[in-house]
Amino acid sequence: MQSSCRAPRPVLSVVVPCYDEEAVIGETHRRLAAALEAIPDIDFEIVYVDDGSRDSTLALLRDMQRSDSRVRIVALSRNFGHQIAVTAGLAEAGGDAAAVIDADLQDPPEVLARMVERWRRAGADVVYGVRTAREGETAFKRWTASAFYRLVGRISDTDIPLDAGDFRLMDRKALDAFLAMPERDRFVRGMVAWLGFRQEPIPYRRGVRAAGETKYPLRKMLGFAAAGVISFSLAPLRLAIWLGFAASGVAVAGIAYAVVVRLFTDAWVTGWAMLFIAILFFGGVQLTVIGILGEYVGRIYGEAKRRPLWLVKERIGFPDRAAGKRDE
Ligand code: UDP
Ligand code: MG
Repeated sequence: MQSSCRAPRPVLSVVVPCYDEEAVIGETHRRLAAALEAIPDIDFEIVYVDDGSRDSTLALLRDMQRSDSRVRIVALSRNFGHQIAVTAGLAEAGGDAAAVIDADLQDPPEVLARMVERWRRAGADVVYGVRTAREGETAFKRWTASAFYRLVGRISDTDIPLDAGDFRLMDRKALDAFLAMPERDRFVRGMVAWLGFRQEPIPYRRGVRAAGETKYPLRKMLGFAAAGVISFSLAPLRLAIWLGFAASGVAVAGIAYAVVVRLFTDAWVTGWAMLFIAILFFGGVQLTVIGILGEYVGRIYGEAKRRPLWLVKERIGFPDRAAGKRDE
């Protein structure tokens, strides 16, 4: 049967978080647009999120937007961090599916074609990139990243895929579910894994940053790792219970020892040094555990304030639609 009206082509939104990316953003847009044009039967928009850049990133994005109507820009009021920037971009995505890709071309845009293929032909709801190789990253970063993914994998209640970053495509169904998660401590890759639906990995080689420098210094990486562990696991809290059991065990053994020495020898258990060490030890353990509790309590406090997760300074190039609403 012939139908007179052609079904509308699905729209893919590609979200690109950008923080001080003036060195690379032009090249990124060229490669990304070319890769997306090569995907058959799809329309696309590219949502650049300017995460409070201090350089000329926003000006360059504006220039790009003037000559390319598929470009949308969400400029945040300040730097909110990568995970929030990704969320802000996803909230503005109007597509039937949305993909997330870094601005520095470490994730090859050409892989998007394979992700779209899995989504459309194989019916996957989430297609996530798994890094088979990380080129040009220091041995330290590779090693810590690998240890981190394995640690979180072991202690979290959610199965978070190993070596998967934020390079992924999500169907509208999964995307809406993700956006309904209100938590501010956002470990996006874990949250998406938590969603369920049909999730499929795509292996790819992670390249080197095309230009510019990493925006993830050690301090930010540690914060990110802490968010990953704390928002997906109560294991650190349970540590207190195990430490308590272990300390009680040591105490029982100590008591038995003291009694035996008193009853069966002429000596007393000597040693104020032992006492001193025990006090220091338990003082240390208690402060550590209080510190861990504090991490959770602090996050509860952050959530309880219910501040918005980000603030938008400017939205540019969006068709006439309310923020976060799809074009119908
Ligand atoms: N990014 C961001 N806000 C930040 C830090 C990073 O939007 O506060 C973006 C950055 O522009 C890039 C992506 O997040 O597109 C990943 O950052 P980067 O490449 O510096 O991290 P790395 O690949 O070194 O881990
Ligand atoms: Mg990078």
